Amino acid sequence: MIIIITPDEFKSVSEAAREDGRAPDEIRPLKIEAGILERADGSSYLELGGNKILVAVYGPREAQIKKLQRPDRAVIRCRYNMAPFSVEERKRPGPDRRSVEISKITAEALRPALILEKFPRSVIDVFIEVLEAEGGTRCAGITAASVALADAGMPMKDMVVACAAGKVNGKIVLDLSEEEDKRGEADMPVAILPRNKEITLLQSDGNLTQEEFEEALDLAIKGCLKINKVQKEALKRKYGE
Ligand code: ADP
Repeated sequence: MIIIITPDEFKSVSEAAREDGRAPDEIRPLKIEAGILERADGSSYLELGGNKILVAVYGPREAQIKKLQRPDRAVIRCRYNMAPFSVEERKRPGPDRRSVEISKITAEALRPALILEKFPRSVIDVFIEVLEAEGGTRCAGITAASVALADAGMPMKDMVVACAAGKVNGKIVLDLSEEEDKRGEADMPVAILPRNKEITLLQSDGNLTQEEFEEALDLAIKGCLKINKVQKEALKRKYGE
């Protein structure tokens, strides 16, 4: 069968579809596994499109460094790290401004979900290792870290789940790939507690009008809720109902 498309129809089809063929409200293929490392207290592995991320959690355990101890609660420390082989050109190993910033915002995004008062003078360490990066790693890291914390048996009010929305070719789209992030006009990572939709992270890189911002926030929250289902399935597979 031959289908004839007029130039106008072709234009509207090609504008509707994203480079990788996704619909504007579609996330990349997502896979999450809980509890894959023997030696960590909790762990997870996540793939989102071309992202591959491993998270290990240690603790809660007594903080050895006095300065770190809080008499009434535990402290959460996060380290986001990109492997040298995770990006096209070898990345210099070790922390840089970007990874220090992402480590900080990750701890802030996770903290509201954790019942830290249960563990005074303790510390919880979250290690996020980006093995391969393809855009949206800060969100994917937060999503995976939350699964690893639950796997560690950390008492939590809810999971934390993150997803970005942004603007590419004038359109608001969900879960930007690296290519879309590079070409796009705006990228807005959002993290929420899915039960009450409390926002624990909201960043914005680029320019959005008030309407576009609201549309992107709505879309990011919808993405978060989809991703939360996959988080829950990963924990169910590991621990049953
Ligand atoms: P996020 O990964 O949360 O989207 P950025 O917007 O800072 O964070 O980065 C977007 C993407 O750019 C990353 O996911 C990664 O694919 C790529 N990237 C980040 N840092 C580097 C780097 N040092 N070298 C090459 N690519 C990088």
